Amino acid sequence: MRIETIDLNFLGSEEVIASFLLLGDDSAALVETGSTTCLESLKKGLEKHGVENADVSEVFLTHIHLDHAGASGHIAELLPNATFYVHEVGCPHMADPSKLIKSATRIYGDRMDELWGEIRPVPEERLVKLSGDGEGIEAAGGIFTAHDTPGHAYHHLAFHEPESGALFAGDVAGIRLPGRSYVRPPTPPPEVDMEAWKGSIEAMRRIAPKTISPTHFGTYGDVERHLNELEQRLQSWLLFVEERMDEGEEREEISDGLKDKGDDEMLEGGSEPEDTGHYDLAGSYQALADGIIRYVERRRKGRE
Ligand SMILES: [Zn+2]
Repeated sequence: MRIETIDLNFLGSEEVIASFLLLGDDSAALVETGSTTCLESLKKGLEKHGVENADVSEVFLTHIHLDHAGASGHIAELLPNATFYVHEVGCPHMADPSKLIKSATRIYGDRMDELWGEIRPVPEERLVKLSGDGEGIEAAGGIFTAHDTPGHAYHHLAFHEPESGALFAGDVAGIRLPGRSYVRPPTPPPEVDMEAWKGSIEAMRRIAPKTISPTHFGTYGDVERHLNELEQRLQSWLLFVEERMDEGEEREEISDGLKDKGDDEMLEGGSEPEDTGHYDLAGSYQALADGIIRYVERRRKGRE
């Protein structure tokens, strides 16, 4: 199997959202569709690698957020033979995206169209639900195993391909730019769960992939180091936000503080100052701080 990364050129920016193209001898599969606004880039990517639309038999979705799966309805029309594999909790929202659109509109407001484009349903008979208990799915001449990996979202899967050793990790393995070592934790509202995330990092260590491929963006071989950095940063960001909340800081202040902290860490990790805008496209500090605040509030409520 050959694995190619298609750069979906999100909003004209390189290396923000990837779709991974898996090529077997006479079959092909995709991991992630990207958003509808990325559709042209995806089509071009398939063309570039000589893939006919009818050859793509499987589309694996790590989760249903619009930057990962937003184009699915359009892709179902484009790729007539593709079956869509998605977490059982997210699956109903692919067949009927009305709630998904509503909750995204709460976050993105009037930028919805510009960011994500039109969202269409995927016909129910084209969808296969997975629980992520290690189910194996044949695709592109290999076998993919699906692993439940909550933390960034409840309904999150990572897909492992044992022969190549690749793990397609969606957002649960963080955001990282090619040529950089810094890993930014994507913690937007509403479903961030730090405890579950820790468990998913453990699960990824147990899978012991040779490479890890975050959708934002690329493929990395230093799996152990990458996961350690992510785990430590999640922990230190949680403590940071909790302390600020205890001091009575407002959301804005917390988000500004997290940005200063995060950017310092990024520069220490060898990134360039201009990288922050690039990382922001996949997860801005306002959203990242809000997600952690929401997690802390929810956890504290549960303990009352
Ligand atoms: Zn994402």
